[in-house]
Amino acid sequence: MIGRDLLGTEDLDRADIERILETAEHMREIGRRTIKKVPTLRGRTIVNLFFESSTRTKSSFEIAGKRLSADVINFAAASSSLKKAESILDTARNLEAMDLDAVVVRHAVAGVPKQIADVLSAPVINAGDGAHEHPTQALLDLLTVRREKGRIDGLTIAIIGDILHSRVARSNIYAFRKMGAEVRVAGPPQMLPAAIETLGVKAFTSLREAIDGVDVVMALRIQNERLSGTYLPSVREYSATYGIDREKLKFAKDDAIVMHPGPVNRGVELSHDLTDHRPGVILDQVRNGVAIRMAVLYLLSGRRQEGDPRLDLESGEEK
Ligand code: ASP
Repeated sequence: MIGRDLLGTEDLDRADIERILETAEHMREIGRRTIKKVPTLRGRTIVNLFFESSTRTKSSFEIAGKRLSADVINFAAASSSLKKAESILDTARNLEAMDLDAVVVRHAVAGVPKQIADVLSAPVINAGDGAHEHPTQALLDLLTVRREKGRIDGLTIAIIGDILHSRVARSNIYAFRKMGAEVRVAGPPQMLPAAIETLGVKAFTSLREAIDGVDVVMALRIQNERLSGTYLPSVREYSATYGIDREKLKFAKDDAIVMHPGPVNRGVELSHDLTDHRPGVILDQVRNGVAIRMAVLYLLSGRRQEGDPRLDLESGEEK
């Protein structure tokens, strides 16, 4: 169960996902204590290797590691020897020579976490690679939906927006499908990958059809940093057609929840009122992100050596 690395939800099976969600429930409970710290990973060193901007993912991996008593190093790519033309793989090898226990990687190019995992023996966690995968985002989304709805099996999720460039969409499609949900995607035709239906989802260009009767509406940001050329005639037109507001939400179930991985472009993919007046779920996604990242760090690095049993979750003692 659960391999050495976490590179994508495509590689996880249902039992792995359930194990991570169960562990995260326990981690959430630690986060509600006055002293939000357990000794589980004391003496372990985790490095955050972020080559692309991040607010939520980077800080929540740091908080997660610290709540488990690990030493967390934030590698600053902009002021590192990458500027002296050292390669990413050599950077990773040199960092590992300092006896790291886990490496969290974000990069604008798909596949970089896998390349690093291939040369390191420490577990590698993908914190988002290009338009490929963002597994911990999908896991925190699953946890949020399961807590809100009591289940995932049998629900219908509509993911709306720039599906083509979204690693969040891809990781969520794999994860929600594995957990028994029906997944729909919708967006302008030029932002729907041609072969998207081979992943087992239904694709729509009509927002109304896509969100008809769904339990969950997930709005995505247009990935401007990944667009080459012009994809949209105008942001205003996009927002009028695909931006989620109260009017359009009426087509979903009455108790549908609205999610967004952040950062939200208010008034573009999500109306101001939905961002402000239904903040519970979107900020819960962020809250659950810490618990999921604690769970993943524990499950991947909470052993003495590969093959050893995991350390006790609370005390860090060998079981
Ligand atoms: N924060 C998410 C990501 O890094 C979503 C986004 O940036 O739109 O993929």
